[in-house]
Formats: sequence, C-alpha cells, structure tokens
Amino acid sequence: MAKNKQADVVVIGGGAVGTSAAYHLAARGMSVILCEARNIASGASGRCGGQVIHAFARDVNIDKIDYRLKVTRANTEIYKEYQKSFELDFEFRQVGLLDISITEEEFGELERLIEIQRSLGDDEIKLLTKKETLEVMPNLNPDMVSGSRWRESDGNLNPYKLCWAQAVEAQKLGAEILTHTKVEDIVIEKNRVKGVRVKDGIIESEYVVNATNAWSSSLTKGMEVIPVREMAMVTERLPELPPQAFEMLCFGDYAYGATQTASGNYNLGGPAPNYPPDPYDERIYPEEVLRVMSYINTIFPSLEEVSVIRSWVGIMALTPDGMASIGPMPGVEGLFIAVPDGAGMSYAGITGKITAEYICDGKTSIPIDLLNPGRFIGKPKMKWPKPYDITSCHKFICDEESRYKK
Ligand SMILES: Cc1cc2nc3c(=O)[nH]c(=O)nc-3n(C[C@H](O)[C@H](O)[C@H](O)COP(=O)(O)OP(=O)(O)OC[C@H]3O[C@@H](n4cnc5c(N)ncnc54)[C@H](O)[C@@H]3O)c2cc1C
Repeated sequence: MAKNKQADVVVIGGGAVGTSAAYHLAARGMSVILCEARNIASGASGRCGGQVIHAFARDVNIDKIDYRLKVTRANTEIYKEYQKSFELDFEFRQVGLLDISITEEEFGELERLIEIQRSLGDDEIKLLTKKETLEVMPNLNPDMVSGSRWRESDGNLNPYKLCWAQAVEAQKLGAEILTHTKVEDIVIEKNRVKGVRVKDGIIESEYVVNATNAWSSSLTKGMEVIPVREMAMVTERLPELPPQAFEMLCFGDYAYGATQTASGNYNLGGPAPNYPPDPYDERIYPEEVLRVMSYINTIFPSLEEVSVIRSWVGIMALTPDGMASIGPMPGVEGLFIAVPDGAGMSYAGITGKITAEYICDGKTSIPIDLLNPGRFIGKPKMKWPKPYDITSCHKFICDEESRYKK
C-alpha cells in the first residue's frame, strides 16, 4: 500500500540504473523507495547482452568520446568496488572486446577513431589487422572481417544479477523496493516535486529519480528518447572459447554483439529487424528469430550446429544525440533524470553514484553538463528514422547531430 508512505527520494525503475541509484542514495543515508512497474530487471537490463564497453558507438566527436571514456572508466572502478563488498556475484569479467569492421572503408573509420582516442590519452585501445582479429577470435567468418579495435578492459557481466546485487545491497541499507508498483505520474506543485502517484495513493518525497529509460519521456515532459527494440538469444553451453566479446556495426544491414557468459552460454544480440508498429512491443516473432539466426550462421559458421535455447526482445533508449541524459531536469526542482546511453551496462554504477552525489551534495565528482536532460527542450522536434533499429539510429544520430549543436 502506498498510502501514507514517504521517503527522501523515490526512484522510479528497477533496472540496472534505478537499483544503482537506490543503493548509492541509501549508502548516503537517504530514505529511499524504489517503484518498479513489474519486477526487478524486467526492462532492458534483464534482457540485455551484458557487454561492458568503454567507448561504445562510432561517432568521432572528440568531446563525446572524452566524456564516454571518463564516465565508463569511473563505472568500471565502481564495479570493482562492488565485487569486493557485495554479497551477490554479478559475474563481471574483463575479457576484452573487439569492435569489428567488415569492409575496408569501415576499417578506415576505426583508424580515425583510434587516432582521436589516442589523442585523448587512451593508450589502451588497439587497432588490430584482420589477421590479428582472427587470432583473438578464431571462430569469426574471415569474409566478415577487415580488422577491429580491441580494448582489454572491456568485457561482460550478468545484467540480471547486477540489478539484483544492487537491489539487495540497497535493501540492506534500508531502501524499500516496491515491485508491481507502476508510477502513474510524478506529482509536481509550483515547479517542485512532491512525490509520485501510484494506483493506491501518493508516495511523498522531496526528490524523484526517473530511471525508466525507454519509458522516461512518458513520465517527464521535455525528455526525449528513441525506444529501440533489440533482441538477444542464448545458445546451449559451449566449451570455453578464447576471448569472445565483440561488437559489429554495419550500416544499412545490421549491428551485432556477442559474448560468452561465465556459464559458458553464448549470448548474441542485435536489432529486432522485423519490429511491429509498436516500438514498445516486447514480444518476439519467429521471423525475427530466423533472420537473426541466419546472420549468426554467417558471422560464426562454426556455430551452425549449436542450439539456441532462448530468445527474447527488450526495449532500450537512445537519445537524439546518442549521449546519456543524467542530471536535474531544468524547471522542476527535485526531479533528477538517470538515463544512460545505449550501453547502459557501462553506466549503471556511476549513474547511481552521480545521482546520489547531486541529491546529497548538490555537485558531482564528474561534470554532467553535457548530459543535461533538458538539452532537447526548444530544439527542433526530431523525426525518427524508419526503421528505427539501433543501426539506423546510430547513423541518424551521426548525420543529424549538428542540428542539436548550440
Ligand atoms: C537485447 C538488448 C541487448 C543489449 N545489450 C547490451 C549490452 O550488451 N551492453 C550494454 O551496455 N547495454 C546493452 N543493452 C542496453 C541496456 O540494456 C540498457 O542501456 C540498460 O539496461 C538500461 O538500464 P535502465 O536501468 O536505464 O533501464 P531498464 O532496465 O529498462 O529499467 C527501466 C525500468 O523502468 C520500469 N518502468 C517503466 N515505466 C515505469 C513506471 N511508470 N513506473 C515504474 N516503473 C516503470 C520498467 O519496467 C523497467 O524495469 C541492450 C539492450 C537490449 C534490449
């Protein structure tokens, strides 16, 4: 029952970001209530590939790259802290990750990107030739590779366990987690947050954190996100393969990620190409499974005989400029937005920490001006690309980015 409930902060959303915010806020002594419409990890977080990528995406904007590196490196440090102190293991492993180019032209793009990364002092990133890429990941189809970028500190985790690990620690610190509690709206009076409205009443609070990712625009006017349907599938367990985490972005066709999890299963994901008219439809359709399986057979011919044991669809958010939206919502005192970019697993820990810092201290250890959630207010309304899968969105973001520059 929500009646008569109150807390310092209400966090909306029980994904990796919401549970992280609840944990970090509770660790700072705040009283916290987390409201999740379904169950913990039932949104994108419980459905994702779990890859931890420090410099996700291919756009060459130097400020964005610099920012992403700072934020995601800080995030990795937080995961290492979690590993020392958390009760539940969320299987974070830094096994390295390849961002593979298919054509020679794409390889040229990677060379340019790496040059920019190096100029920012990123000495870890490496450019691998086709031969070197195949040495790292021998089961790739050689016809699908022209080279890659490689980062040793990338890797993967179990996203479902990450959410639960953070939720359990938040609860130990006194946070209350209300599952099956949908927030109908955020109560605002005279431009100040008063709490949230749920089915059976109002939960009063001084601060509200909107961590609902793809659903965030429906609760906060001025927040812009593109809901992107993505699918993932898991194979039967395989013997341990050499480092097997990769990303592959191929404009006009498909973008893929794959990683071998700690349990030995192979987790493969990519856009849900045959999406229905509703971009929030979380059902999976046989034709999209078949299409993705045919891609997988092309990328990994040696996996042809391997059985896929589960597949599903999830909805994640991209923003019009491809950057996270993390910070106070301008014009509404007490409302904080916590929406990562498309690589939420590299943001969850730090986003929760930043949220707690801002709410408790009014300042953050990493500047968040570039992530201002109000940056799209008053800008020309975006026309979403169609189809708006992750590939078309990334291309669209790169092409249209100038529209959002000051
Ligand atoms: C198939 C797939 C593969 C992916 N692979 C990767 C990957 O390998 N690496 C990576 O970094 N990222 C990946 N992503 C993206 C990643 O999953 C997201 O960036 C991340 O999970 C976002 O976390 P979140 O906590 O912000 O959102 P979510 O996990 O979506 O959490 C939002 C929660 O809010 C709840 N909610 C919504 N509305 C309300 C409401 N009104 N009231 C209460 N609760 C509400 C939802 O039920 C949901 O549980 C993938 C995504 C998908 C779908």
